[in-house]
Amino acid sequence: GSTVGILGGGQLGRMLANAGSAMGYRFVTLDPTSDAPCGQVAEQIVAAYDDREAARELAKRADVITYEFENVDAGVAAMLMNESYVPQGSELLYTTQHRLREKRAIEAAGVQVAPYAEIRNVEELREAVRRFGLPSVLKTATGGYDGKGQWVIRSEAEIEEAYETLSRARTELVLEQFIRFEKELSVIAARNPQGEIRTFPAAENIHVDNILHLSIVPARIEAALQRDAEALAARIAEGLGVVGLIAVELFLTEGGELFVNELAPRPHNSGHYTMEACRTSQFEQHVRAVCGLPLGDTSLMTPVVMVNVLGEHMEPLLARLPDTDEAAQRLGVAAKVHLYGKHEAKHKRKMGHVNVLAADTEAALAWISETNIWKG
Ligand code: ATP
Ligand code: MG
Ligand code: MG
Repeated sequence: GSTVGILGGGQLGRMLANAGSAMGYRFVTLDPTSDAPCGQVAEQIVAAYDDREAARELAKRADVITYEFENVDAGVAAMLMNESYVPQGSELLYTTQHRLREKRAIEAAGVQVAPYAEIRNVEELREAVRRFGLPSVLKTATGGYDGKGQWVIRSEAEIEEAYETLSRARTELVLEQFIRFEKELSVIAARNPQGEIRTFPAAENIHVDNILHLSIVPARIEAALQRDAEALAARIAEGLGVVGLIAVELFLTEGGELFVNELAPRPHNSGHYTMEACRTSQFEQHVRAVCGLPLGDTSLMTPVVMVNVLGEHMEPLLARLPDTDEAAQRLGVAAKVHLYGKHEAKHKRKMGHVNVLAADTEAALAWISETNIWKG
């Protein structure tokens, strides 16, 4: 069988390796932390992501190379294209690592993003805030995640401080109009090198403190909107020449308009529901895509709610397993627990997730609230 090399050894790599191992592939990962989640289920080269010598070693051991997080040095990915087979290329990484480049690429694909402006100095920020109104969202162009590297400007008095604070990141800044969304959605699309495209059903996402809490599928929106969201993701996959997965985060407004928030060129937390709820999981689909296999059927087999397990949820989750099993039986749901093998259950750290499969969304939500593991 062939060996797949993964840049990055977190939980996404682990779940990729688990899915791909079932398909007969071997995996080797490059990650600086020894005993990384992926390293526990695959071979691991322990080295920094931008260590070119280690990257060459990965190339030597693998027949095809992919990545599991988007801040992999695009230069390293480009170098690896000469040493091994990198079907996703480095262009997609380069584009999605920078909010301005990403927004321009989405627009070029004919899809709308929230109105935005590049901000080079505090005067430009003042002018753009006047144009977009309050609140507006100032974001660093690179490096942000879980809401880090952004500032919701709610009054003119905050402009200076917001600018000073985010400028310290030494990257371009972008101001976005604040979208008063009705719902947040995401759609994951896959494309293989042959140009075949498939999309997964849209997820309705609920965040708590800027971290994903729930993904509800099917999203509680009209069927026509679900189709629109999927079509838009397919257009982005096509327009950006994606290979592998592209996750598309969306805002849905009350008026039924869809705006893209941001993209991720990899498996996505909001796609974990596919592991048991779809005929093909996002991880299997990614392996199929980068290995040049035909893409799998993405149909949903059952309603599902995915709930994230953060550090603070670990103790109650493990302590209440007997009760939660009882609740699952009574409510007629299957609660599939996935843990990532991380050792330290730090506050807010993603430790795992639970896919709650049920005949209807209400039963799945009832299980989540009855367990008392996720409060508030
Ligand atoms: P992730 O962990 O998803 O990579 P991130 O740090 O890159 O997060 P965004 O996805 O850009 O950040 O924003 C985080 C959240 O903040 C969004 O999911 C949304 O709830 C809110 N948000 C971001 N931009 C806007 C906007 N323009 N209008 C309204 N809400 C926004
Ligand atoms: Mg992001
Ligand atoms: Mg986001």
